[in-house]
Amino acid sequence: MQMEKTNLKEFKEPNRVAVIFDMDGVLCEEFPIEKGKGPWWEKLETLYPMAFPIPQNVFLAQMCARAGFRVFILTSRQEKVRPITQEWLKQNGIVYAELFMRPNGNPLPAGQLKSQMLDVLLQRGVPGDGAEILFAVDDNPDVANMYASRGINTFRRLIGG
Ligand SMILES: [Mg+2]
Repeated sequence: MQMEKTNLKEFKEPNRVAVIFDMDGVLCEEFPIEKGKGPWWEKLETLYPMAFPIPQNVFLAQMCARAGFRVFILTSRQEKVRPITQEWLKQNGIVYAELFMRPNGNPLPAGQLKSQMLDVLLQRGVPGDGAEILFAVDDNPDVANMYASRGINTFRRLIGG
C-alpha cells in the first residue's frame, strides 16, 4: 500500500503528524544476548530497566514530541513488560501517544507483528483525518523493509551498527 504524499499543510497541525520508534536497538541498546540461549535469556525482562539509552535517538523522539508530533512506540517486547517499559520511557523523558507491544506468547516474527500494529494505527486513521506518518525508525531490517514497502519514510538506525 502506498501512502499519500505528505501534505505540508499538515505541519501546521503537528498533532496530526505521527512518528514511529522501536525500543530495543533504537531508543535503547539491545542486550547482546543470543535468543533462547543462556541463563540471561530467561531473565531478559529483569534487564530492561537497565537498558542503556541511545542518546541521539532519545533526543530525536523528545524533539518530535516537543514539536507536537504524536510519538508511537512499536516494540516486539511482550505486554508483560509494559510497566517496566513505561517506567524506562518516563525516566528517559520520552512522551508518547501510545505504546504497542507484542501480546504475551505471540510468536509472530517482528516484521509481521509490526505490520499488524501498523494496520491498527492506519485503520484508526491515527492520529486524525488526513494524518501522516512522517517516519518510522527500526533497527530490524525486516521491519524497516516492511515500513518502506508500505510507503513510509524509514530509517533503519541513526547511529552505530
Ligand atoms: Mg529493535
